[in-house]
Amino acid sequence: MTWEAILDRIRSSNEIFRLTVDECVELYNNAPLHQLMAAAHHRRLLHNPSNEVSYLVDRNINYTNVCTINCQFCSFYRPPGHDETYTQSYEEIRQRIVELEAIGGSRILMQGGVNPSLDFEWYLDLLKELREHHPTIDLDCFSPIEIEGIAEVTNLSTNEVLTHLKSAGMHGLPGGGAEMLVETVRSDVSPKKGHPDNWLRVMKEAQLLGLTTSATNVIGFGETNQDRIQHLDRIRQQQDEVHENGYPGFTSFIAWPVQLETNTYGKRNRGQNRFERGAGSTEYLRHVAISRLFLDNVNHIQASWPTMGMGIAQMALLAGADDAGSTMMEENVVSASGTTKLSATEYELQLSITRAGFIPVRRNSDYVRLETPNALENAPTVVCEPPSQVVELV
Ligand code: SF4
Repeated sequence: MTWEAILDRIRSSNEIFRLTVDECVELYNNAPLHQLMAAAHHRRLLHNPSNEVSYLVDRNINYTNVCTINCQFCSFYRPPGHDETYTQSYEEIRQRIVELEAIGGSRILMQGGVNPSLDFEWYLDLLKELREHHPTIDLDCFSPIEIEGIAEVTNLSTNEVLTHLKSAGMHGLPGGGAEMLVETVRSDVSPKKGHPDNWLRVMKEAQLLGLTTSATNVIGFGETNQDRIQHLDRIRQQQDEVHENGYPGFTSFIAWPVQLETNTYGKRNRGQNRFERGAGSTEYLRHVAISRLFLDNVNHIQASWPTMGMGIAQMALLAGADDAGSTMMEENVVSASGTTKLSATEYELQLSITRAGFIPVRRNSDYVRLETPNALENAPTVVCEPPSQVVELV
């Protein structure tokens, strides 16, 4: 079928019917961006039929930068023994949560490197302490590669590790580390992460334990459009399987382009055709639209303001995304490779959502609506240079 016929079928239907891999490759390769965005927005309104866009007040905590995995696109990690390594104390982590509580936050996203010097008790005791002292904060902690690292140190299976962590108070897992679930790409940019099946297996184990998870995707490694659809297809297939078992599976999907400024991967590819590595704004928007169209069994698509800036994130809300992400407060992993501003106030998120034509709604980690304060009433009274990344659409 041609891209024109596929888009006609999508736009004229009020059903969320399944698109095949071949149909989405055809759309990816040939459909004009504005038509893709319009079709994806039509689908977004079938999934979430309101004019609302959700966001989360949360904080990222990168508790350690020690890591043995050496991903080529990562500028955050330091190998064991390096003089710039750090691991935050329980007190430092708790202080960050106190600051989150002060702004009414509901979730921490805690992830770091694979640090073999931390034993299992360190993780369990940390979760118990956080659960006891910060009972209103959801603890979304430790991405699949960290779970695998803990399993290696403890000699337990990843399922056993997850079971213990859940008992200690863990609410969910960050979706990080999926990057591109295509073996040829993964073995090139992050060979120690192992086969794509590993990430999917740990996520499935977590989902079947009732832990909250999300799916991520990094584009721009020189992969083909077919590879990108393969990544989406792995997620869609797993989501079908988990739904058959009666679990919600991935709450959402978020993609962003690899950051190339300061890492090994960027240096390795410097001087090569820029269009073969990384991904610009239109490429990103095309991918957001395709993901909304292809992932018929994932409820929410997030826009990525930290990597694209608020202006492109606003455009993503017109390309199938229905969630503006979160405040983050700090982030050190992606930002180490070249993005600039990785914290947004609730005011900035609400302003961006409103100016894009939507109604902002606070949510929690499970996409349950929370009471939404009117942050726009508390606009900064001192007028100064606007943050460079808050580019208004209208
Ligand atoms: S991306 Fe994560 S796993 Fe890879 S090197 Fe960085 S901290 Fe380690």
